[in-house]
Amino acid sequence: MKNRIIAILIGLSVMVPATYAQKPKKSPAAPAVLEAWSDPAAIQKAMDEAYVKFKDLKEGKNADYIKELAKVDPNIFGIAIVTADGKIYTAGDLKSAVSIQSISKVFTMARVIEEQGPRAIKDKIGVDATGMRFNSIIAVELQKGKEINPLVNPGAIAATSLVNGADSAAKWKSILATHSDFAGRELYLDIPVYISEAGDNLRNQAIAHLLKAYGRMYWDPVEATDVYTKQCAISVNARDLAIMAGTLANGGVNPVTKKKVVSAETVKYTLPVMATAGLYDDAGQWLYATGLPAKSGVGGGIIAVVPGKFGIAVISPPLSPAGNSLRAIYSIRHIIEALGVNPYQITPRQ
Ligand code: GLN
Repeated sequence: MKNRIIAILIGLSVMVPATYAQKPKKSPAAPAVLEAWSDPAAIQKAMDEAYVKFKDLKEGKNADYIKELAKVDPNIFGIAIVTADGKIYTAGDLKSAVSIQSISKVFTMARVIEEQGPRAIKDKIGVDATGMRFNSIIAVELQKGKEINPLVNPGAIAATSLVNGADSAAKWKSILATHSDFAGRELYLDIPVYISEAGDNLRNQAIAHLLKAYGRMYWDPVEATDVYTKQCAISVNARDLAIMAGTLANGGVNPVTKKKVVSAETVKYTLPVMATAGLYDDAGQWLYATGLPAKSGVGGGIIAVVPGKFGIAVISPPLSPAGNSLRAIYSIRHIIEALGVNPYQITPRQ
């Protein structure tokens, strides 16, 4: 019996392929070259270059359909990067803040995915780019409230309507807390911006009512639009936005405070919608140039996420006709290129 067992063991050891049986040989030490994206000097250099290159750019103009936004200083220009391990790099103006506007749509969407799972977003709102302006009514009408996504106004107001909370105050509290957790500090409402838009948002009210008519609005349309308008008026600087983007880059754990804000699963479903529609009808051009999920807001901010590596944010109020900050587009593109983090840029094996 004993011999048979030994024989079996010997037989087994013969079957084990040599590569598994032997201890791996120590591979020769890898050359100590940092890839640009993990080299602090390279990151700072790319950011400083972008700042100098685009600071005097005169293209674009502040959003003015929200009266308060037309008054914001167009020269504000701040850049920040927050790595997945919590390092913060900055260039330019970090003191000035802008209203978060549509960038908030990302975090409210994440809240809803966290609470109700990815199917709720897909089935009740949609995850398709409309190819039209962010506040297009035709887009809603053409598809009877379908074929939209949570990053254009109709889908975003629907997402706000889905956030857990018995009343307007409870939903707003949850949305503000989510944004604050992503930013790692208590954020506040820019009241003049909120009042200015709330008094003049008949178009968004119309969108919310049209969705209601098609059974695609999940709460009172007037209240949902009001809470949505509030979330758009949350005040943020470039550093706040970069920490928010860095939290997405780090799978939902804030890399600075270390708090788990949402699950990695939620982030996995949030980033693709940003890649599809984060820069509205210019999302395709953006993805073509950078390969990265991103989100813009008419306050002048843009965030972009390099999954697993870092989040980047730029604020600068003058916008392109599609409603995206021009200095932000140009400088993020410059930095992404310099650091070689476009995921579609592949070095072939020879
Ligand atoms: N609050 C703005 C609106 O609803 C947000 C739009 C945007 O940032 N693109 O019109």
